[in-house]
Amino acid sequence: MATFKAIRIDKADKGQTAQLADFDESELMEGDVTVRVAWSTVNYKDGLAVTGKAPVVRRFPMIPGIDLAGTVEASSHPQWKAGDQVILNGWGVGETHLGGYAQRARLKGDWLVPLPAGMGAREAMAIGTAGYTAMLAIMALERHGIAPARGPVVVTGAAGGVGSVAIAILSKLGYHVVASTGRPQETDYLKKLGAAEVIDRAELTGPLRPLAKERWSGGVDSVGSLTLANVLSMTKYGGAISACGLAGGMDLPASVAPFILRAVSLLGIDSVMCPQEIRREAWRRLASDLDRGKLEALTTEVPLAEVLSVAPSIVEGRVRGRIVVKIG
Ligand code: NDP
Repeated sequence: MATFKAIRIDKADKGQTAQLADFDESELMEGDVTVRVAWSTVNYKDGLAVTGKAPVVRRFPMIPGIDLAGTVEASSHPQWKAGDQVILNGWGVGETHLGGYAQRARLKGDWLVPLPAGMGAREAMAIGTAGYTAMLAIMALERHGIAPARGPVVVTGAAGGVGSVAIAILSKLGYHVVASTGRPQETDYLKKLGAAEVIDRAELTGPLRPLAKERWSGGVDSVGSLTLANVLSMTKYGGAISACGLAGGMDLPASVAPFILRAVSLLGIDSVMCPQEIRREAWRRLASDLDRGKLEALTTEVPLAEVLSVAPSIVEGRVRGRIVVKIG
């Protein structure tokens, strides 16, 4: 029976174990497309899955990895044939369906997105779910009418994956970007990505004032909790904030004042079940609106086995930018 290398999570008496192992092809789950995986990534959710810090994994054994890029090996799905280059983000992969930290994946063809013309598989995973979510967040702001002429935009969790990609895209689109970080030592890094201003995230974790001084017309928030509440209270009249993360907590101790007195909107962003039309548009936009030099500057490459040591770092907020995992 053929085997392939994968990170494997098993249930243990106390919690779970995660290790690099040989996985049997017969254990792959149902799907109409088999993909030879070339690259995957480490996202915050992968960190939670591998460390077991949150109940992300809901089936054992599990191969974690919520995203992947690779080449179709076999397909009975009408849209895909052997040799096609594909991307996968979300749909429960790495949570309920065997995921991307593996040399092989069997998936539903309906989940896949074609690799955009001119983008390599490694670049796609340097972007990964974090970068694709940043694009979804920016597209939501645009649908709300936010534009560079309306004033600055804020990005929280700036030195993280979503934050770094959001800054690079927003600056290329012409926005004045205010980057909020807890790591002042990353100021140069953030300015090189395109941040016009870098602020200490402590400015956004003080006691909440329902309406504070208006500072930005829009924002991308990957932190949640009191940070998001404060960001909303500092948003200009008619502005909007895309909420996509919980790195600072899942609660939202906010006031309704920004909504009812300043017509501020809170836009929810989900990458996992996002409809195909929107995700394909996001990947097309990523191909054109993200500077490839900046993408390379925010990317670190690791081999598959290193996922195990990187996972705790991302959960602790110590990873800068994006981590791409070489599988093939
Ligand atoms: P990263 O760990 O790369 O980035 C998170 C950043 O948040 C950190 O780098 C840090 O930035 C900041 N941060 C971490 N801990 C805290 C804290 N306690 N208080 C305030 N800020 C903190 O993760 P990702 O970019 O991959 O993901 C970011 C968030 O977005 C996660 O919560 C993730 O689950 C979510 N997400 C949601 C998706 C969706 O579909 N909605 C898809 C992808 C991600 P700094 O040091 O600069 O302050």
